[in-house]
Amino acid sequence: MDYQPLLHKIRKEIEIYAHDGKQADYIPALANVNPDQFGLCLDLLDGRTYRLGDSDVKFSIQSIAKVFSLAIALSILGKDLWKRIGKEPSGSAFNSLVQLEYEHGKPRNPFINAGALVTADVLLSHLENPKEFFIEFVRTIAGNPDIHYSEATMQSELSCCYLNASIAYLLKHHGNLHNDVDDVLRLYSTMCSVEMSCEDLAHAFMAFAKSNEPFSHAGVNLTVSRVKRINAIMQTCGFYDEAGEFAFLVGLPGKSGVGGGIVALYPSRYSIAVWSPRLNSKGNSIMGMKALEMFTSETEESIF
Ligand code: GLU
Repeated sequence: MDYQPLLHKIRKEIEIYAHDGKQADYIPALANVNPDQFGLCLDLLDGRTYRLGDSDVKFSIQSIAKVFSLAIALSILGKDLWKRIGKEPSGSAFNSLVQLEYEHGKPRNPFINAGALVTADVLLSHLENPKEFFIEFVRTIAGNPDIHYSEATMQSELSCCYLNASIAYLLKHHGNLHNDVDDVLRLYSTMCSVEMSCEDLAHAFMAFAKSNEPFSHAGVNLTVSRVKRINAIMQTCGFYDEAGEFAFLVGLPGKSGVGGGIVALYPSRYSIAVWSPRLNSKGNSIMGMKALEMFTSETEESIF
């Protein structure tokens, strides 16, 4: 099937949502992004790639970075990681403190901020140069050496990360953060500041769609079993407090970020990344969700 006409049709039909929502502004650097951009990239298992709009424009991946840091932390600690982080949906906001307090400092899952702060802590404890290791991992998995951190976005997030700092101190209080709080916050925000395009992301997430060809880089092995676990967590926890809605409307495992990116995959078939900065009240890209919903409905290619 030639997907290009379908992608053009989707772009046309979602135009009615083009001015709904607004870009994240709680991180000052994200507030400056032009909200009227839209890109999409579809990578198929057979090697074909389809692109639409601003598919090659790099944007802040934000929480999508949590999938990469989980893959690395899981390779380092194996099953022991689950002693420090749960794997259940949180049913609350990605930066909520309340649940963490009730649950004595064990984050519900690796994709809420508390969980990602713990994975950042694992990277800090076990890697000689976690910042370099992380970006090299991302470059390799995406097949693009031209991927970088944004110092400006990282600094901007650090300048106002009061909630993440509160979460980190609560984790520290419960003995679930082994490194210095400032170092963990810095590494976490640095990983969130990585800039990638839809093309980079679709390519990177093929590693989670191609379980027959396990990806491996510098000791990080995405084995079949590990990919199964990570995809399961993407399915149940990948979309903030909207994972149920995303499963219902789109029906694919994936991950979103407040930069407006969403990447999703169908195991053994395709990966698809979409970006549009205007978000709904839950923090997910409005046009991104609409585009993916139309894509899986029209192609009848969702995992359900
Ligand atoms: N760096 C962002 C934060 O910690 C990530 C949020 C996101 O994309 O969910 O607030």
